[in-house]
Amino acid sequence: MKILLSEEELRAGVEKMSSQIDQAYAGKPLTIIGVLTGSVVLLADTIRLLSMPLRVGVVQAASYDGACRGELRINSDLMPDISGHDVLLIDDIFDTGHTLKKLVDQMKSLSPTSLRTAVLMRKSGRQEVEFDVDFIAFDIPDEFVVGYGLDFNDEYRNLPYLATLAPEDVAPRDLGSDGIQQ
Ligand code: 5GP
Ligand code: MG
Repeated sequence: MKILLSEEELRAGVEKMSSQIDQAYAGKPLTIIGVLTGSVVLLADTIRLLSMPLRVGVVQAASYDGACRGELRINSDLMPDISGHDVLLIDDIFDTGHTLKKLVDQMKSLSPTSLRTAVLMRKSGRQEVEFDVDFIAFDIPDEFVVGYGLDFNDEYRNLPYLATLAPEDVAPRDLGSDGIQQ
C-alpha cells in the first residue's frame, strides 16, 4: 500500500473545495446529499466547513463487488425531499462517471431548484459519459484507491489518508487486462 494523499494534503484540498462551494452559494440555504458509503468522511469534513444554512441527507449507490464493477443499484429511501431546494450531490470519486450521471438524472426528475455535484477525486482518463462535475478537490492517476471513506471489500474506509492498493491486492482472482473478471 502506497500513500497517494496524506492527511494534511486531504485537509487542504477539502478546505479549498469547501470554500469554493461556500462562495458559489453565497449564504443561500443548501441541501447537501452524500452518496453512501464512500462519501461519509468527505461529507462529515465538508459540512463542518460550510457556513450557509444546511440540510444534510444521503442516497445509496453501489456498483462494486471488491474491485470488480457490477450493476449500479440506487436506493433513495433515505433521501430528504429535494423539490424546490438548491442541492449539492457529493461523492468520493468520479471514475467512469456512470454513478453520478445516473444519480443526477434520477434526482433532476424530483425538481430541485438547482443541482450541482462535488467529488473528492476525479480519475484521469476514465470518463465514459458526458458529464461535468462542478467541484473537484483532486485529480488523481488511474489507480484503485482506498481510505478516507473509500473501501476495498468494505475494509480501509477508516484510513485517515488515501492509499493505492497494489494490483495483486485488488485482483486476487483472475482479472483480464481491462479489470473485468474473467
Ligand atoms: P463511476 O460510476 O464514476 O465509475 O464510479 C464511481 C464509484 O465507483 C465511486 O463512487 C466509488 O464508490 C467507486 N470507485 C471508483 N473508483 C474507485 C477506487 O479507485 N477505489 C474505490 N474504493 N472505489 C472506487
Ligand atoms: Mg461510491
